[in-house]
Amino acid sequence: MLDFLIKNAIIYDGLGGKPFKGAIGIKDELIASIFNEGEQLPEAETVIYANGLALTPGFIVTHASTGFGFFFPHAANHKLYQGITTEIFGNCGTSPAPIDTHLISTMKTLATDLGFDFNWRTLGAYFEILEKAGLQFNVATLTGHSTLRGGAVKDWAFSSDSEQGQMQQLMQESMEDGSLGLSTGLIYAPGCFAKTDEIIKLAKIAKANGGVYASHIRDERDKLEEAIEETLIIGEAAGINVLVSHLKAAEKRNFGKIDKVLKRLEQYNQTHTQQAKIDVYPYTAVSTKLRAFIPKEFLEGGLSEIKDKLDSKEVVEEIADYIINRDYDLSQMLIISNEYPEWEGKDVQAIANEFDWSLAQTVCEILKRDTEMWIVYHCIDQADIDKAIIWPNAMICTDSWSHPINAPKRIGVPHPRSYGAFTEFLKRYVFDTNMLSFEEAIRKITSMPADYFNLRARGRIKIGYKADVVLFKQSEIAPKATYSDPYQLSTGVEHLWVNGVHLIESNVINNSKPGVIIRNRD
Ligand SMILES: [Zn+2]
Repeated sequence: MLDFLIKNAIIYDGLGGKPFKGAIGIKDELIASIFNEGEQLPEAETVIYANGLALTPGFIVTHASTGFGFFFPHAANHKLYQGITTEIFGNCGTSPAPIDTHLISTMKTLATDLGFDFNWRTLGAYFEILEKAGLQFNVATLTGHSTLRGGAVKDWAFSSDSEQGQMQQLMQESMEDGSLGLSTGLIYAPGCFAKTDEIIKLAKIAKANGGVYASHIRDERDKLEEAIEETLIIGEAAGINVLVSHLKAAEKRNFGKIDKVLKRLEQYNQTHTQQAKIDVYPYTAVSTKLRAFIPKEFLEGGLSEIKDKLDSKEVVEEIADYIINRDYDLSQMLIISNEYPEWEGKDVQAIANEFDWSLAQTVCEILKRDTEMWIVYHCIDQADIDKAIIWPNAMICTDSWSHPINAPKRIGVPHPRSYGAFTEFLKRYVFDTNMLSFEEAIRKITSMPADYFNLRARGRIKIGYKADVVLFKQSEIAPKATYSDPYQLSTGVEHLWVNGVHLIESNVINNSKPGVIIRNRD
């Protein structure tokens, strides 16, 4: 007998085809049967009357950085309520493993700060720990280039041949442990110090093991187009599919560049077997660390040395020039940290006015107190984001950490995309603006990421596929999180199954942990 029979649903298969009225049966972890309206239905342990709710495959996030967040209870609730059943993390150059020599002490500090036990080195060992802890939804990871480099390279600014050899070996081991490929974060230290060739060598290892290459590219501002070219050069040289992470053209003077970028990617895709795709989050503000807005040479000596440097008058002047040259609008940059309530939610310009500091001095003062300080910066054009999202090769990301409501303070306040990226995507692009059909929007967050990352038997409503299934009330799909009130769960998801386990029942989430780790070549 079936475990579940979901009747009278409007079924979207995930491939972008027209929906049909019908029913599906779930047995163990699989979709066991699919019925058209009017067909004789079998019995089941539990029958769900969908009554016109939309039934879709569970959503797949291409891009997150949850790694350590899974150790917190209910870490994924805010994502499950967006319909997400699988998350890929380890993006932007940073993954929880492998951890080599020079990263061990940093990881120990982080673990103490966040309150988790750090007792792994390899990806295989990390996965075993996660499996023991249990997962609410399915996860998979990329291998971060900055993590490889930070662990294997002694001097952040320079990697020797033997250090590069060590990174390559770790990359190979990670792929064998189940990594889905390589990620880079080329604006962040130490990834930013790597030459293209170092990345090509690692991307070749990812490719040889069936992986992909995802990049937070070297420049999302004035040199956006050059940074896109570097990504394509890496794709071509390694023969690997590439993914430009959270595509954007930041700062007013770069608004409108997305058109050109998409044309270039289309042209590349027409002339290459290996393909380029993008992911995007549907918001016009970025969320990152404040230290990404100072010249990267200050970071060459590692984080422990920055604080002393920031006391020097010359450094403050250099940062002032840097801010002017890049035309950063610091009145649009908000501090998000509940460790510093006096600054929380204030913009950098306002803090400067309050203390009678110059802008550069304000940036230095904030970084001296906390080199990890997070900010939200409104610097993206809505029209650019819209064009990127409706591009047929665009997928959707949360680009988010896990932010459970009772998480340790140290995590900081989330960007609203943590709680609302997927519901914002569906609401804006399908229901508010009609820029996408519901079936096309669903394809972008189900079969397309499953195919791109080679996640077998997921991302479709198909017999024999894993029963990651969502039932929605379409009219109620909405994000509730805002920049000032980001811990609000999304609405619209009535029921959700992960691997055949009923995790959200009539809008109420239970304590099940049905998620699995998806390994490369699973
Ligand atoms: Zn990134």
